[in-house]
Amino acid sequence: MQTATHSISVIHRDAVERKPFFHYRPGRSTITIAAPGCTFSCSYCVNYRLSQYGRPDSQEWTGEIADVEAVVADAATEQAIIALSYTEPALAIELTLALAEASDPYGVEIAWKSNGFLTDRAVDTVAPVLAAVNIDLKAADNGRHRRLTGAPLTPVWRAIRRLREFGVWIELSTPLIPGYTDDPEDLATLAAGIADIDIDIPWHLLRFTPTFRMTSQDPTSPDALAGAVSIARSAGLRYVYVERALGDEGRATRCPGCGTTVVTRGIWNLTANVLVDGRCPACDNTIAGRW
Ligand code: SF4
Repeated sequence: MQTATHSISVIHRDAVERKPFFHYRPGRSTITIAAPGCTFSCSYCVNYRLSQYGRPDSQEWTGEIADVEAVVADAATEQAIIALSYTEPALAIELTLALAEASDPYGVEIAWKSNGFLTDRAVDTVAPVLAAVNIDLKAADNGRHRRLTGAPLTPVWRAIRRLREFGVWIELSTPLIPGYTDDPEDLATLAAGIADIDIDIPWHLLRFTPTFRMTSQDPTSPDALAGAVSIARSAGLRYVYVERALGDEGRATRCPGCGTTVVTRGIWNLTANVLVDGRCPACDNTIAGRW
């Protein structure tokens, strides 16, 4: 049997920071692959030509049957992480499991960028082979989440908790779409929800740029992103990031114990990491992550 989700439409190398992961294997390269399709239909999807495969307004897509052994061999040689991203890897669980089985002898790790819309059975099936997942927290409640994506939010929170129970490293991402997801009260709700799980979970606040069904929407302003960072910090979150729009400061990790800058990043790449075995070199405080 052949399915589209056991194929690869995109494969290329980039830094793990670009997934984005900031507290997971900093500076490592990834071999990033994408199978077509997604469980959501987000109006702002930059990868809609691939992700909306199978839907009426779908664009043409191309892909080749995944050569699992070749991907793993390359990852082992390059000491790279295999990342599934750009579309929804939950539709490619069989591919993920095949990659994991082939990777196991080489110690190659597998990471996902996911919308988090996973059943308990899906989590139970795939979590044991995943090292890290960056999950989108797209809106503050079921109604807003459904309007933006076509699906409710509640299963996403549940998947976040359950993946953590398996020991998977979790980072979260939220796009700040003006008029949709940038309301300060909504952001405070999301921040409180994250803090209720763990204040050490890194939260990436993403700048929206007009695309797909939202081409007439304004991009997120730097002021809105800075305001969101303040809201997150007020909720107690220790690691809040803005990849673009706030400069190096938005991408830097500071020790929550003494304030020393311990990891710095450019746009999508590591520039310095002074951690010593995951600890601050100045005060020996442990910085949460898989370093
Ligand atoms: S979940 Fe991600 S890949 Fe899927 S439609 Fe939304 S933005 Fe696109």
